[in-house]
Parts: sequence; structure tokens; C-alpha cells
Amino acid sequence: MNRRHALKLLAGAAAACPLCGGAAQAASAGPHWDYGTGHGGPAHWGQLSADFGACSSGMQQSPIDLKSGVRAELKPVRLAYGQVPLKVVNNGHTIQVDCPDGNAMTVGSETFKLLQFHFHHPSEHRLDGRSFELERHFVHRNGAGDLAVLGVFGAANPVIDAIWRVMPAEAGEAAGQGAIDLNGLLPQERQHFLYHGSLTTPPCSEGVHWRVLPAPMEISREQVARFAALFPTNARPVQELRRRFLLESR
Ligand SMILES: [Zn+2]
Repeated sequence: MNRRHALKLLAGAAAACPLCGGAAQAASAGPHWDYGTGHGGPAHWGQLSADFGACSSGMQQSPIDLKSGVRAELKPVRLAYGQVPLKVVNNGHTIQVDCPDGNAMTVGSETFKLLQFHFHHPSEHRLDGRSFELERHFVHRNGAGDLAVLGVFGAANPVIDAIWRVMPAEAGEAAGQGAIDLNGLLPQERQHFLYHGSLTTPPCSEGVHWRVLPAPMEISREQVARFAALFPTNARPVQELRRRFLLESR
């Protein structure tokens, strides 16, 4: 793929997806950030740009350790997911699939449209202190512009295989053809955790509705190794819960 085509794809991905600062950054000259222990790492994100202030001063940051949740009658999460085109983007920070209209998460009377999903290794959220090999984030937005992210641990083999088979090794590239069924990426179990948090990448903006399905799905060692070869680690460390409620429907 030539560079011009790659940048065009990135611009489209950035417009469609509020979480992928990576794509926007690769296409423009935004501050470099990464997951390392150096200057660009999570401990310094808040100082890299005035726009990233919430990363260090925010009081409702994500991810968190999911433990000691308050058991509550939570509105059920209904996921009306179907097939999406298999177009896989490497935005320099993760592997991402942008989703066209037609897939949604409904909670009570509120509907959030699915924008994209992407992966983190190891998991960003923890469950009672335990981390998992992989976490995927389904990023949604409602009519008012509020973001809701659904986190799922682990991976379902056949769909992940299809994505891994075409994922580009180079940042800024996209690849793939055909379609995948998003339902293959979801566990049967809909019990979940609910809390208010933030984007887990700069600018770490708050006001994000988080729901995490704790039921881990199967993932093979080889699948983890293939992702880790491109992204050895792309998980932000857990943040303090502070004065937040963590609700749990189990
Ligand atoms: Zn994410």
C-alpha cells in the first residue's frame, strides 16, 4: 500500500473513532506517546501535551482493578451485533477494526452505536487483581455523543484468527477483505461490571461509561504471541478507583 492511501485510511479511522488517538497522531504531528517506561510512557502522558492533562490530574481514570463491586440490579446489556467488513488497521498503538452503522449496544432505553473495536495485551482491566492475556474494547457512542466501551477478556479463536491473519505489521496500514461476525467475539455470559471512567489512551478524557464482561474467553498461546510480536505491551496500568462506585451484576 502506498503512503497516501494509508494516510487516507488513517484519517477516516480517526474521524470515526474518538478513542484511537493513535491514528490521529500518526496522521498529524501530535506528541509521541507509548507504553514504555521512558518519557512517552503512561507515567508521563499528562505532561506530554496540554490536551493530555486528564491523564495525570483526572479523578475518574481507566482502567481499574475490578474488585469488591457493589452487587446491583443492573439494566441488561443487549448487543445487536452482526457482520462487519474485515478491514484491520494498525494505528501504531493497537490493531483496530472500524465498524459501519448497524451494530449497537442497548442498555434500558439508551442505544449506543458501535464505532470500532481494538485490542490490548495484556488486559488493561484486572479482575480481583488478576490480569488476562488479551482484552478487547468495543467502542460505542450514543446520539448525545456519550461514549460507552464494552471490555471483554480473552479472545474467541476463529474470529481472532481471521483478524490476526491480515493484521498489518506496519503502523498506518490497513488490510483485509470479506467479513467477520462480531458475535464470535462475545462470551455468552452478560453479567458485568459497570463504572464511570475514561479513555485508556491520551487524552484520557473522562465521562466514558464502562462495562466489562468478566467471563474470560478462550485464547491460544499462539494467538497471544502473534499479537505480542507487534505490540509487546499496549496496556495502561490500573488507576485508582477513588470516590467511584463499581457496580457488579453477578
Ligand atoms: Zn482500548
